[in-house]
Amino acid sequence: MANVTFVTGDGIGPEIAEATRRCIDATGAGIEWDIVEAGSDVMERLGTPLPDATVESIKKNGIAIKAPITTPVGTGFRSINVHLRQSLDLYACLRPSKSYEGVRSRYSDIDLVVVRENTEDLYAGIEYEKGKDDTNELINWINKHTTRHITKDSGISIKPISVSGTRRIVRFAFDYARKLGRKKVTSVHKANIMKFSDGLWLEISREVATEYPDIEFEDRIVDNMCMQLIQKPELYDVLVLPNLYGDIVSDLCAGLVGGLGVAPGGNIGDNIAIFEATHGSAPKYKGQNKVNPTALILSGVMMLRHLGKNAEAHNLEAAVAAVIAEGKNVTYDMKPNRDDPTAVGTSQMADAIIEKIKSST
Ligand code: NAD
Repeated sequence: MANVTFVTGDGIGPEIAEATRRCIDATGAGIEWDIVEAGSDVMERLGTPLPDATVESIKKNGIAIKAPITTPVGTGFRSINVHLRQSLDLYACLRPSKSYEGVRSRYSDIDLVVVRENTEDLYAGIEYEKGKDDTNELINWINKHTTRHITKDSGISIKPISVSGTRRIVRFAFDYARKLGRKKVTSVHKANIMKFSDGLWLEISREVATEYPDIEFEDRIVDNMCMQLIQKPELYDVLVLPNLYGDIVSDLCAGLVGGLGVAPGGNIGDNIAIFEATHGSAPKYKGQNKVNPTALILSGVMMLRHLGKNAEAHNLEAAVAAVIAEGKNVTYDMKPNRDDPTAVGTSQMADAIIEKIKSST
């Protein structure tokens, strides 16, 4: 029996959470759920969108699956999702992009995994607003001590990339490749221009690659990477990227396989992992039993693999793939015409997936 925290989220969160939980239970994975809340619904009752009990449960179990949460306005949290990633040091964002027959897309046979560094780079939150005293001080220092000139009307964002941060994320990518039987890791950067940040990233990537002689290693400059992913995505396998490039390229890869509706994800640290869909809480569809549960269910597949429950993960993924391929019991967004009256609701799509699981076991 594994104990897992399920954060039900807000907006469409509770509906897709319920659908996902039922599908995972149908695999017989024997999960003991600790169902907890976060987001705007609990905010109204408890005055905080992230109750201590929710964080404590995630820390205790070390593994969670999370439905989307609306980014709150004016609560002291910039984003609960970002807060969780930073406070729990979930330094790796894992985003697989895989083609499923029946999902409308320009490509078939895509099977890529993006490993994005989650804590450093331009996303570290070190920013200086135009016109502020400390910004002016920084600009004066740079103008005095370097040959560069920054104009006074500039805002500044700092891009830190460290040896330790790079080493742990590149090792994560290689360990993941080894564990999942993948063949190649590609490190993505702009080292030709940003020599001391991306250059360091590339140097450490190469160093770490020597620890994994069984896995092929190569590097690509990020602009060229984008073009190659569009032209010949079949050449790539696991990509490891600093935070900002990872953010952009993971959406590019989601686009290759049909968009956010089928894009699962995980944020993973050394002791804690939280799996979640890439899409948000789509508040306009709240409570309508309408939206697609696939991305969160596929995040559940990732969670089962993380727990070592590979047979259950395989069965669940196969059941999702079969329902999508049939194209009958799917939500509106998976029909050729979004107004198709034969589209089913969130819970009916889950029922169809559960039927497939039962008929295969
Ligand atoms: P969104 O992903 O919630 O919705 C954008 C549109 O995508 C929706 O209007 C809908 O048409 C479609 N969509 C999204 N999920 C779908 C699904 N499962 N099935 C069918 N269609 C779906 O993006 P947004 O409107 O920019 O964000 C809404 C809120 O969610 C914001 O507060 C945002 O900050 C938050 N958010 C949370 C997370 C997270 O919890 N990890 C991630 C992204 C955004």
